[in-house]
Amino acid sequence: MTAPSAPARAARRAAPRRALPPDAVRRGALALVALGALGVLALWWADTPRVAGAADWLTGAGRITGLLAGYAAPVLLLLMARIPLLEREVGADRLARWHAYGGRYLVALVTVHVLTVIWGYALTDGQGLWGQTVEMVFHFPDMLKATAATLLLLGTGAVSARAARRRLGYETWYYLHLATYLAVALGFAHQLSTGAELAGGPARAAWYPLYFGTAAVLAWYRLLRPYLRDRRHRLEVAEVRAEGPGVVSVFLTGRHLDELRAEPGQFFRLQFVTPQLRWAANPYSLSAPPHPRFLRFTVKDLGSHSAALARLAPGTKVRAEGPYGAFTARRLHGGGAPVLLLGAGVGVTPLRALAETLPGRVTLVQRARRAEDVLFRRELAAVAERRGVRVHELLGGRAEVGELGAALGRLVPGLARHEVYLCGPEEFAADAVRALRAAGVRASRIHHESFAL
Ligand SMILES: Cc1cc2nc3c(=O)[nH]c(=O)nc-3n(C[C@H](O)[C@H](O)[C@H](O)COP(=O)(O)OP(=O)(O)OC[C@H]3O[C@@H](n4cnc5c(N)ncnc54)[C@H](O)[C@@H]3O)c2cc1C
Repeated sequence: MTAPSAPARAARRAAPRRALPPDAVRRGALALVALGALGVLALWWADTPRVAGAADWLTGAGRITGLLAGYAAPVLLLLMARIPLLEREVGADRLARWHAYGGRYLVALVTVHVLTVIWGYALTDGQGLWGQTVEMVFHFPDMLKATAATLLLLGTGAVSARAARRRLGYETWYYLHLATYLAVALGFAHQLSTGAELAGGPARAAWYPLYFGTAAVLAWYRLLRPYLRDRRHRLEVAEVRAEGPGVVSVFLTGRHLDELRAEPGQFFRLQFVTPQLRWAANPYSLSAPPHPRFLRFTVKDLGSHSAALARLAPGTKVRAEGPYGAFTARRLHGGGAPVLLLGAGVGVTPLRALAETLPGRVTLVQRARRAEDVLFRRELAAVAERRGVRVHELLGGRAEVGELGAALGRLVPGLARHEVYLCGPEEFAADAVRALRAAGVRASRIHHESFAL
């Protein structure tokens, strides 16, 4: 099996005609979320004729935070629903960051909601805080479920905190994190039965589609669609090939692969059906433009999942979710600006696929410590010859290479005019962004794919 030999066809696929300007979907999605939040605040405003005294203020704060939390919960799940438009235009890494930021706000909103509502009601009823808590949990409708939801949410927040997450394996964290779905479901009923603003009218009518629509979108994109696609494409391992120290390429074959409409720069979540790997779906980027008969991924052994891929037998069944990711030709602002593909380590994989297909003047710079760590040397030389891509290797330790900006400046004339696709270890990427910005590259022209979701 050889690397793809249909560059012309792949190039046509790689530069899809863009109906929307870059970032339009990202901006639109953020504006929609903000509009929804304003709408939620308007609900409270319309339902609250006046606020007088401490009890009213506290109850008001409890209502506002409760409404915002009730709105934020399904929105955060929608961000992770693998909606193709968002995955393709906003990108999985950015969506995951929004989800993580939003998750922190959600935990804060729920905490303030619980405390202020109890306090406000206690003042209104002239009760102690403990008595009021017991009264609300055991005697208000649907509050036992809401209490369970709150505990689950706070528990998930705690395991997602950076320090705790570092100590947990990714899979353990992931499966614990799924408890948030249960939390959102359990918290739903009390919003309708105790939320004054949602007692009736258009607000109540909007809350149902928000929650049931979210459930339907999740069921379709996360369960049903991947299942149907697996049945249609029947992916399996065709070959595993060594590429370099600790790096292998995995070739997958299957049926109707062209229907996947994968683009160079995108990734799939791959689940290999072996006793060791069947519970994990890890993200790996296409390391070659998609071919009608096979997909290629190139993987570095950084942990138990990635290391096990070297031992996969041909014929192993694979479940693949995707293609995902916005690190594609769609990101190009265009206008004839030259493109720099800048990668280090296994971060070169999506750049390798893009090098073969991006239109215009393209330069690829691969940063590696040692010559034997350079990936795809021969393939890139062939791409350079065929498409005129300029390919450079930036080898050596930090001391030998010196300041990254200066080194890039020497290799890439007119660096400031370039549009840059960047992928590599986090420290390298941060260093590269600083160097590129200092060299005059506009922030909006630096497209970064992070391998750390
Ligand atoms: C969009 C994207 C594209 C990627 N493309 C490639 C590629 O082409 N080649 C390559 O070698 N690596 C790629 N990676 C990184 C690769 O997914 C991780 O190295 C691999 O999953 C590590 O798993 P492990 O069990 O071997 O190591 P572990 O030690 O278990 O994990 C190491 C770290 O990898 C991340 N990780 C692990 N499992 C997952 C998961 N299921 N989902 C998200 N993150 C996870 C976590 O941050 C974890 O802390 C990509 C990552 C992302 C997010």
